[in-house]
Amino acid sequence: MTAHAKLSASGAHRWMNCPASISLEEHIPDSGSVFAAEGTAAHDVAEQCLRGGTNADDYLGEVISVTNDDGSVLDFVVDQEMVDAVQLYIDYVRDQPGKLLVEQRVDFSKWVPGGFGTADAIILHDGTITVVDLKYGKGVQVFVEGNPQAMIYGLGCLNDFEFLYDFEKLKLVIIQPRMDHIDEWEITRDDLEKWADIELAPAAKNALSDDPIAKPGEKQCRFCKAKGSCRALAEFNVKTAVSGFTAVGEPLTLKDMAKLTNAEIAMLLPQLDILTNWVKAVKAYAFGELEAGREVPDYKLVTGRSDRKWIDEEAAGKALARKLTAAVVFTRKVIGITAAEKHLGKNSLIVKKHTHKPKGKPAIAPTSDKRQALEIDPTEGFKEVA
Ligand code: SF4
Repeated sequence: MTAHAKLSASGAHRWMNCPASISLEEHIPDSGSVFAAEGTAAHDVAEQCLRGGTNADDYLGEVISVTNDDGSVLDFVVDQEMVDAVQLYIDYVRDQPGKLLVEQRVDFSKWVPGGFGTADAIILHDGTITVVDLKYGKGVQVFVEGNPQAMIYGLGCLNDFEFLYDFEKLKLVIIQPRMDHIDEWEITRDDLEKWADIELAPAAKNALSDDPIAKPGEKQCRFCKAKGSCRALAEFNVKTAVSGFTAVGEPLTLKDMAKLTNAEIAMLLPQLDILTNWVKAVKAYAFGELEAGREVPDYKLVTGRSDRKWIDEEAAGKALARKLTAAVVFTRKVIGITAAEKHLGKNSLIVKKHTHKPKGKPAIAPTSDKRQALEIDPTEGFKEVA
């Protein structure tokens, strides 16, 4: 792969924000993620459905083999959860009028040297290009407005299909079926091209320059392969961890020390996610170094703590039942909702009848978060602001 081809659409949120990440990640091998491979399996089923005019449940029980980023081959059985997720995506795509292109390679090298990628589904209709991205993950909700990956695929479509029609706008869509999340966003061709000229192309130039700068930040560092050994992130974290404490290095009086103000807490909060994520990454990096036989001064690998386990659960159960009553020895538990849906399907009436969704516990979020703020009513607890 050439250096240019490394400026991928999926990594754009990282290299646009931290141009040095391309070079810093370059020599770190992909560890391969089961979740990413599972997503590839779901995309494979979706592609077969859209190309072959089939439905997702035609593949229920089939085994899809995926070669992971680290070269290992993983087998996934198409279960009810995958069937439901893929069907939601293909139903959406099939509902869009126009000419459908599936898993279509698009070229955005006009703005990003060597840039190309594969869009999940593209629909060309009446001056509008619709680009649909299936995201199988359910860990982090992904929004489409301003999403560089979606915008870059849109640009690739403009570049590749402008000879066919006079496209005026693009509808960009992210479907995350396992989070019940379908997010649509429209942008005019002019605005998209303006973004490409003003933001994307200069960012690509920076990333490919001889000495690109490293710019740490929560979003770009979160999944960066270099985060465990990145000096810029380490310095950023050390500085920001203490920046909320204005009196660091100065002698503190009891009055100074009594309590952080809420304004100081507010300064610390945005740093906590990046700090905790970084702490885990540095520990994992040090573990990897020791495991590879390289020295990390003052540290070594030892056997960790473990809990006792039954050697043979069934034999242990029988032996215990000779001394104790069955009610004490054995526990019975209803299977989880997801497991039940795997057996009965996502629309199972039995599951629907016997489940409810309790209100989530209040959680802290920045004011920019898309969810509604709760208002505090001392008599009734929290409620959503209308
Ligand atoms: S960890 Fe963050 S700062 Fe360091 S290279 Fe990756 S994205 Fe850039």
